Amino acid sequence: MGDPRGFLKIGRKPPPKRDKVERVQDYSYIYKPMPTEEVRDQAARCMDCGVPFCNVGCPLGNLIPDWNDLVYRDRWKQAIDRLHATNNFPEFTGMLCPAPCEPSCVLTINDDPVTIKEIELSIINRAFDEGWVVPKPPPPEKRTGKKVAVVGSGPAGLAAAQQLNWAGHSVTVFEKDDRIGGLLTYGIPDYKIEKWVVERRVTQMEAEGIEFRTNAYVGYDPTTEELRRDYDSIILAVGALAGRDLDVPGRELDGIHLAMDYLVQQNRRVAGLPVNEKEISAKGKNVVILGGGDTSADCLGNSHREEAASVKVLTHGPRPPENPDRLTWPDWPNVLQTYAVHEEGGERSWSVGITGFSGENGKVEKMHCMETERTPEGKTIYKEGTEFEIETELVLLAIGFTGPVRDRFLDDLNLGYNERGAIPADEKFATKEPGVFVAGDAKRGASLIVWAIAEGRKAARQADLYMTGESVLSSLAEGTALGEIKA
Ligand SMILES: Cc1cc2nc3c(=O)[nH]c(=O)nc-3n(C[C@H](O)[C@H](O)[C@H](O)COP(=O)(O)OP(=O)(O)OC[C@H]3O[C@@H](n4cnc5c(N)ncnc54)[C@H](O)[C@@H]3O)c2cc1C
Ligand code: SF4
Repeated sequence: MGDPRGFLKIGRKPPPKRDKVERVQDYSYIYKPMPTEEVRDQAARCMDCGVPFCNVGCPLGNLIPDWNDLVYRDRWKQAIDRLHATNNFPEFTGMLCPAPCEPSCVLTINDDPVTIKEIELSIINRAFDEGWVVPKPPPPEKRTGKKVAVVGSGPAGLAAAQQLNWAGHSVTVFEKDDRIGGLLTYGIPDYKIEKWVVERRVTQMEAEGIEFRTNAYVGYDPTTEELRRDYDSIILAVGALAGRDLDVPGRELDGIHLAMDYLVQQNRRVAGLPVNEKEISAKGKNVVILGGGDTSADCLGNSHREEAASVKVLTHGPRPPENPDRLTWPDWPNVLQTYAVHEEGGERSWSVGITGFSGENGKVEKMHCMETERTPEGKTIYKEGTEFEIETELVLLAIGFTGPVRDRFLDDLNLGYNERGAIPADEKFATKEPGVFVAGDAKRGASLIVWAIAEGRKAARQADLYMTGESVLSSLAEGTALGEIKA
């Protein structure tokens, strides 16, 4: 513990952001780096409490008090070594994680938590700047001769691939899209994570000996049979990308789209890549976004950057409280989530139900709504006599995901689905097929990047044990995190 009185003297400081008028005109990263002195001050707030609940709140089991102390003492090289011990990609979590560690921080009982996520990002940024992050290929004599196929290149697949390669196996990552990264590349906007950040890790992993195959839709080319025949183990990291839809009159009208169809196109446009399907654009339109999570917020930020005429964000459930209920500590509080994009404009409404859409010439013009309320049993019902309409030309459905896309690969494997629509696995990440493991959203249902990395690491260890009977891979982060939250 660096400064035993730090938390008494220093208040929490949020990461600095670019001015909202300026940032809404481009797709560059929203936040600015925190000056080193300020990061050190923030790290000094860590009390290094006897039982660091933050460490359990983090699904990766990040050794947070250790690196807070190292940052305070200006020992950044040791800090990144400690951070990399549990997290392959701290820049992904440092930029994108909703930080379930922070509500678990003991300071939260009667103060604001340590800015753990910002300190994590500062450590990895410093490590890249100093040239401390270099490829670490396993020595040739450590190669086991075993071959692993990782299907899907999101954070779960990337973490599993890096771990298994370090264990000496020959790893091939198959990705059906034309670029590596899963939702990091196609889904999450550039203003949250610029794509060179993902490419930098891919370059490192290629130099470590991992083979990446893009435009490789497993089930078609290669076929499931070829994969089973040619590889000793398979990691399924196919995500949970089947979008939840609405079943109401008028849903078929033009101008109503699943959020992901819009977000992927938008990422392609920002990257200067062609969009092959019919273009979905918010420019000049009155946009309505249904849903209140990360996906909805990403649609909002993109719509503003495209210069929409107006944007409304509607949520089915009631408005959560503004202030955290400290009584939930160390679990995730039920509190209104306000992201940087909410400061940029748009109107948010809660307790709104959708009864249908209408419009002339096959195009959506109106959304028909009713107010909703919660019954004492917690059920959401529509309030009679509260009908109203909203004029709109673009409706984006960001109302969740129903599990992995049930394509030919999953049909061939025939692993079944659980109640979340995800692929069932035991506590060792094993499916019912020997040698086939599953990690990330494909196993959990739509979740978070931190969980995807954590599960990719754990599934890799189990695959290593399956192939060799022992594992050199870290068994850290085997614990269960408190207070799960969903994307
Ligand atoms: C719009 C949006 C914004 C989000 N924002 C955040 C955020 O800010 N913070 C956060 O923590 N979480 C966020 N999430 C959640 C987070 O992105 C996911 O939890 C995480 O990406 C899951 O990682 P994954 O590796 O399991 O799957 P994914 O990232 O979904 O990757 C799966 C990959 O598998 C590929 N694939 C599927 N089937 C095949 C096949 N048969 N052959 C080859 N490839 C295949 C897919 O093309 C895809 O690239 C967000 C989610 C969405 C949708
Ligand atoms: S990965 Fe997320 S939960 Fe873990 S320490 Fe970083 S911000 Fe906190």
